[in-house]
Amino acid sequence: RNSLDNKGMRVDASVHYGFRFVNAMWTGEQMIVGDGDGQSVAGLAASLGIIAHEMAHGISQHLIKGGLGVVLMPGAPPTLKGEAGALNESFSDVFAALVERRVEGENAGTWMIGEDAYTPGTPGDALRYLNDPRRAANFGFTANDQPDHYAERYTGTQDNGGVHINSGIPNKAFALFAMAVGGNSWKEPAHVWWETNCGANRVGSTADIHEWAKKTVENCTKMCPQHVAKLKKAWSDVGVTA
Ligand code: ASP
Ligand code: ZN
Ligand code: CA
Repeated sequence: RNSLDNKGMRVDASVHYGFRFVNAMWTGEQMIVGDGDGQSVAGLAASLGIIAHEMAHGISQHLIKGGLGVVLMPGAPPTLKGEAGALNESFSDVFAALVERRVEGENAGTWMIGEDAYTPGTPGDALRYLNDPRRAANFGFTANDQPDHYAERYTGTQDNGGVHINSGIPNKAFALFAMAVGGNSWKEPAHVWWETNCGANRVGSTADIHEWAKKTVENCTKMCPQHVAKLKKAWSDVGVTA
């Protein structure tokens, strides 16, 4: 791929953004990356997964017309909302994990998001866990900030309708699928997810989790039919019929 837009766009990032800023984000035009407060989060620019997550938001923006789950409001940066927004967040988490798995090898630790910046005083934890969403850091949006089953999805208004909450559901489906396939997750499992967000047979900008799941099955059927049963099982384990 030739940059985020496949047309060689320049990729800008502002590091040391703000003062002890405890976040990183894709603004729709560039990445902004904070230094963290040193306690809840250390400097975020050092985290491969966090940078990959933000870059993946940049890729998603240039693919599905309008952007998967993107809502435009006058005078504000593009915002992700609802189930489609949760799928956009999940795509970013999945590709963050895939980048780590490509670089560091297929190990359980790479299912963690932000482990290299999150709570520097507490080793071994992370912001989110693709293979076990219920372990996610809890910011008090809901009793459990990341469900791992569709029946427990969040339907309230916080976090723009739970974009960093319900992302746990497709995140876990991907992790289960990749583990069932085995080998390099950045091969067939990654190709199926990429095709669903970025390929010729991709979802529309307002797709919900069921629509996404059905597309992954369609793409898997075309690309690697020997893995379809494992994919359907992964979705069914998180309460989604695909
Ligand atoms: N704070 C957000 C996150 O947890 C930033 C983002 O979604 O890019 O992933
Ligand atoms: Zn994100
Ligand atoms: Ca930590």
